[in-house]
Amino acid sequence: MQRPVPAEGELLIKVKAALTCGTDLKAFLRGHALIPMPGPFGHEYAGVVAEKGKGVKRFRVGDPVMGVHSAPCLACAFCRRGHHHLCENIMETKVLGSFAEYLVIPRHVVEQNMFRKPGNISFDEAAFLEPLACVVHGMEPLGITRRDTVLVIGSGPIGLLHLLLARSRGAKVLVTGLEEERLLTAKALGAAAVFHPSRTAESVSSVTGGMGVDYVFECTGQPQVWETAVDYVRRGGTVVLFGGCRKGEHVTYDAERLHYDEITLKGTFHFTPQDVRKAYLLLKNGVIRVKSLISDRCSLTGIQDVFVRLSRGEGIKYTIRP
Ligand SMILES: [Zn+2]
Ligand SMILES: [Zn+2]
Repeated sequence: MQRPVPAEGELLIKVKAALTCGTDLKAFLRGHALIPMPGPFGHEYAGVVAEKGKGVKRFRVGDPVMGVHSAPCLACAFCRRGHHHLCENIMETKVLGSFAEYLVIPRHVVEQNMFRKPGNISFDEAAFLEPLACVVHGMEPLGITRRDTVLVIGSGPIGLLHLLLARSRGAKVLVTGLEEERLLTAKALGAAAVFHPSRTAESVSSVTGGMGVDYVFECTGQPQVWETAVDYVRRGGTVVLFGGCRKGEHVTYDAERLHYDEITLKGTFHFTPQDVRKAYLLLKNGVIRVKSLISDRCSLTGIQDVFVRLSRGEGIKYTIRP
């Protein structure tokens, strides 16, 4: 591959670790509106600065770095209101292509969402910055405490990151999912109880004395799961809808339940630079330890095999080391 040249304000990163993600798997299997296929692939990365464009002051060649693949424009109507995650330009200006030897990071990302990787975490762990920022964005504003019981629906990497973040706040966390192996990982990471989806209602009821959990995090992106998620939350509780459904999908809810039980349904998407900074500190300070979410490592040539394994539900996250 020809080594790209960074323009003014840009960084050329030699990728040391790039992680597979559920979004990549969706794009691989069925296509994705925001990830044109075929095309540059992969968006979670950590690496070393190989070359810098003119005017970059904060980084030097040879610096180990961790970053995300997008940053807000700071100029659109949403940015001006402080809703940086909803920036009108954030998706068009994002970087894809971390499953490669080199990756050019554009100026707005270098300036807002790039950090020097601390020595106490590996490149593999540092590459968790982006998915963790997404989870931080949906969970941190809720102010979860150790008095809360949380149900995480879905035991994939995102579900497990929700588990870790809720555990770091002391909450009691229940995890439901289809894969036995992932549920065992959830248990090892501190889940109070894990169970197959068919047992969710009885398990939630027995753990909460029939009351329901304080928070539900839906991490599957299946419409029928979105609908049943509401059944497990207590009166006055909140359901966070993290998993994105396919375009055009619709869901229905019992209006009486939503109104009289004062249920909050909360969509969550992407992250702000503030969320990225929080995620960086959680990783740096060892509050969130992601090592056990890495199932295997492979080189670029093994990538096809990795996605086949993921599509079979094998493993959690894989590190590609170009
Ligand atoms: Zn991702
Ligand atoms: Zn904007």
